[in-house]
Amino acid sequence: MVVVMCREADEAQIAKVIERLTEQGFDVHRSTGVERTVLGAVGGKIVDHRSYELLEGVAEVVRITQPFKLSHRSFKPEETTIIVPSNSRNGSGLVIGRKEVMIMAGPCSVENREQVLTIAGKVRAAGARVLRGGAFKPRTSPYSFQGLGEEGLRYLREAADANKMLVISEVMDQTQIPMMLDYVDILQVGARNMQNYTLLKQLGQVRKPVMLKRGMAATIEEWLLSAEYIMTGGNHEVILCERGIRTFENLTRNTLDLLAVPVVHSLSHLPIVVDPSHGTGRRDKVIPMARAALAAGADGLMLEVHHDPDHALSDGAQSLFPEQFTTLMGELRRMAPVIGRVVY
Ligand code: PEP
Ligand code: MN
Repeated sequence: MVVVMCREADEAQIAKVIERLTEQGFDVHRSTGVERTVLGAVGGKIVDHRSYELLEGVAEVVRITQPFKLSHRSFKPEETTIIVPSNSRNGSGLVIGRKEVMIMAGPCSVENREQVLTIAGKVRAAGARVLRGGAFKPRTSPYSFQGLGEEGLRYLREAADANKMLVISEVMDQTQIPMMLDYVDILQVGARNMQNYTLLKQLGQVRKPVMLKRGMAATIEEWLLSAEYIMTGGNHEVILCERGIRTFENLTRNTLDLLAVPVVHSLSHLPIVVDPSHGTGRRDKVIPMARAALAAGADGLMLEVHHDPDHALSDGAQSLFPEQFTTLMGELRRMAPVIGRVVY
């Protein structure tokens, strides 16, 4: 249930509603918007919603039929914007979920210091603001390169700082969280971990944004429910990432579900990023699908880029050459104004 307060509701009226909800066993999540306060009530008993409508200062009570609540638009009508404040490392800070389409780029895996420094310089020069790179790699085969771990995160941070970028990297296990917080600005949950509820609950305790990739066999509802696991812990800074799902089609690595972008935008206030690299699995298909993702309304793009993809330790075939990335950025920059967005 979601209780929408009147514009003019005062703190005492809001406190009264919170008190009543808490008495009835609800966990209350408050969202104080520019226009009005909205209270999301999770759990609790079955109650007569009219008893809340009658409380002073209440404008409306919405019963949510969808199983997800905190990520639902009725809980928070305005878009969630994720603000990473500026500091000496990242330059001007960053906002995800507003007009600017955030471009995250970098190698699939951090392989060595030189590799990540080289790629960071190139993607930053082309306009990317967030540096990606896996230090913990969820590989299908245990015999494949598993990532450099903390050493990789050190290189990633160094390369990002040298270029005034932010760092996003995948966390595979809750035991990695405290150590990773020293290095990353955004924690990524990979497709294979979308339903690792222990990990998601732990990320609910963190005060840094989390980018939650869609599981390769997950419905949009399951994906939003996973976001809910993070949000009920108190971390509302969740970014969704569509990265392709597994279908009967086997000519491409995955089927990039761009329809998820407008569907998520209508159901939820959370920002959504598209990853056409994993979504297609082929360098030549990444470029058209990146353009299409922007056109579909994505709030950001995540792209794998490598200066020597033939020798990459993972996902070389889907990594763009830096020159291709630069050309693509120019195209995105020209396309964005048509749909009222901007790519820097
Ligand atoms: C990645 O982005 O590094 C990755 C492993 O992607 P996914 O979880 O979408 O397979
Ligand atoms: Mn990859």
